[in-house]
Order: sequence, then C-alpha cells, then structure tokens
Amino acid sequence: MAQAPLPKQPIVEKCTGCENIEDGFCRIWAVPAAKWRTGVCPSATHVKVEAKVPEQKVRVGQQKQKKNR
Ligand code: SF4
Repeated sequence: MAQAPLPKQPIVEKCTGCENIEDGFCRIWAVPAAKWRTGVCPSATHVKVEAKVPEQKVRVGQQKQKKNR
C-alpha cells in the first residue's frame, strides 16, 4: 500500500521573499509554519542565519573575602 504524501500547507508570512516558494507552497517543506516555529527556517534563502553572539558574562557582587582573625 503506497503511503499518501503529507498534504502541503501554504507558506507563512515569514516565507515571503524565499526562493523556495512555488505557487504559494514551499517546495522543500510540507509545513512551513513548523520551520519557523522554533526560529529561522533552515532552508530560507532570504534570511541569513545570524551567528549567535554569546552574551558577555558580567560578574556581579564579587567581593574580596575578609580574613578572619
Ligand atoms: S524554505 Fe523555508 S522560508 Fe522558504 S518557503 Fe520553505 S519554509 Fe518558507
């Protein structure tokens, strides 16, 4: 028995400008909304994945310990 392919869902707003759009559907992903749910779609051609800049650690409340006599 052949499996039916996943019904394709239309692209979402964030897909606008992507080169993978074909007739209102993504030619890579069946559910584009799922690709954007967790962040930037990994196959988007119109969005550059920004390298995450690690936040600088700020040390707060560091005090010299007093020596007990
Ligand atoms: S590749 Fe990603 S951004 Fe491009 S149309 Fe498909 S789901 Fe949208």
